[in-house]
Amino acid sequence: MATVDESATDTPDAYEQLLERSEKLTNVRMASMVLGWDQRVMMPEGGTPARAGQLSTLSSMGHELLVDDDVGAWLSALESQELTDEQAAVVRELRRKYDRAVDVPADLVGRLTTHQTQTQQVWQEAKGNDDFGHFAPALEELIDLHRERASAIDPAENPYRVLYEDSLPYLPLETVERIFDELREHLVPLIAEIQENGRDLPSPFAGHTYDEETQMALSEAALDVLGYDRKHGRLDTAPHPFMSGNQFDARVTTRFREDDPLDALTATIHEFGHATYQLGLRKDEYGTPLGASRSSGVHESQSRFWENHVGRTKAFWELFLPTVKEHFPHLEDVTVDEAYAAANRIYPDNLIRVEADELTYHLHIILRCEIDRAFVEGDLEVADIPQVWNDKMEEYLGVRPDTDTDGCLQDTHWSYGFATFQGYTVGSVLAAQLDAAMREDLDADVDDLIREGEFEPLREWMIENVHRHGQRYPSEELIEVATGEPLTAEYFLEYVDEKFTDLYGL
Ligand code: ZN
Repeated sequence: MATVDESATDTPDAYEQLLERSEKLTNVRMASMVLGWDQRVMMPEGGTPARAGQLSTLSSMGHELLVDDDVGAWLSALESQELTDEQAAVVRELRRKYDRAVDVPADLVGRLTTHQTQTQQVWQEAKGNDDFGHFAPALEELIDLHRERASAIDPAENPYRVLYEDSLPYLPLETVERIFDELREHLVPLIAEIQENGRDLPSPFAGHTYDEETQMALSEAALDVLGYDRKHGRLDTAPHPFMSGNQFDARVTTRFREDDPLDALTATIHEFGHATYQLGLRKDEYGTPLGASRSSGVHESQSRFWENHVGRTKAFWELFLPTVKEHFPHLEDVTVDEAYAAANRIYPDNLIRVEADELTYHLHIILRCEIDRAFVEGDLEVADIPQVWNDKMEEYLGVRPDTDTDGCLQDTHWSYGFATFQGYTVGSVLAAQLDAAMREDLDADVDDLIREGEFEPLREWMIENVHRHGQRYPSEELIEVATGEPLTAEYFLEYVDEKFTDLYGL
């Protein structure tokens, strides 16, 4: 381009080029996501070797598009220019991504990826044989590689904090740990009280078999009631339910338990919540950070909002129980109160995180965060993890696993990374805070809206206050913009106190 005054044309030019690159990066990532969806939902087992190669090629392509020197030059040029708030946000987000990618040498990325694949395999064997000793050396090496990576990104910073910021950027670890302390101090005695009180909430759904086909129809019916737009989404089954997609195509999955229809229903509503976030992002900003979700923690707030603050309310059961009965006529005599109680039952003797109830779940998360911070920082020997795990389970939940398979080997997360669990609990805490802000804001009573099946105002509120911002604000700021205050445990604790005091007659 012929130009005399370079600075005058630098901004739009560099910005346009940066946006174009950002869209390409998004396209590569979305293509990987569709291949990943296909792998988990549709692909015949034998397809794995070819699919692994396809995904790895796309991943390298994405990396090269990002670490290109041009990207660095555009960012530097833009950082010295006057930018609008939105442009500045785009530059901030891409700078962060770019730095994290160029700082880590390709050789280290390769070693890490190879080791993660092996560790995944070793973890599966160790879990199958209840043999932590088999897993320990691979875990030690994984910690070393992650420390090396953290040091490449920021040698002066605590490695755990660097890893934490991979999944929860712009939300200080101190804030999250303070909230976790409050949760632990509050939830441990509350759960003990529920246990001592001895009231059992019998499930009216127990003792029957629920065929998959009818359960699938019931999940579809729930999505219809909630207003899931099938022009932009679909429901399938997968062993571990997930949501995958973007603002044009956000697909959900669920899975079935033969003896309990609530399991699939809850998973479906949870994933629907994730889909609402994707579908609420600005379509005209597809491919830029302004059209991308903020973080895993904010994403989880959307799924938990729909799962807990909608799907587990009495109002929802007033609305939806008749549909459940249409699908399973033997439930004809079940009352709303019984269904509501079953959906909110607490069972602290459970050892498995993914099967935990709404309350004990967070202690499963907190103990993982405490343990993984300690061993990444070198305060805990890997060999001591099983003992510390079991002690904490006993201290927090009053149960002790007999095996490591049901203890520290139960989750796959430590076979690829660390500091990855915080987002789950942050999601619930933020969901309660958003729910409170929404109830304050909306003219109509939220429970009335749910009872009437009027979900549009709820979704609109989330779009207006959370989704449409994309990554315009750092997480902390987004929470303040949406709710008028910083992230706090207050609303979540109020919500659980009120609900469980009533349910368990405490
Ligand atoms: Zn989720």
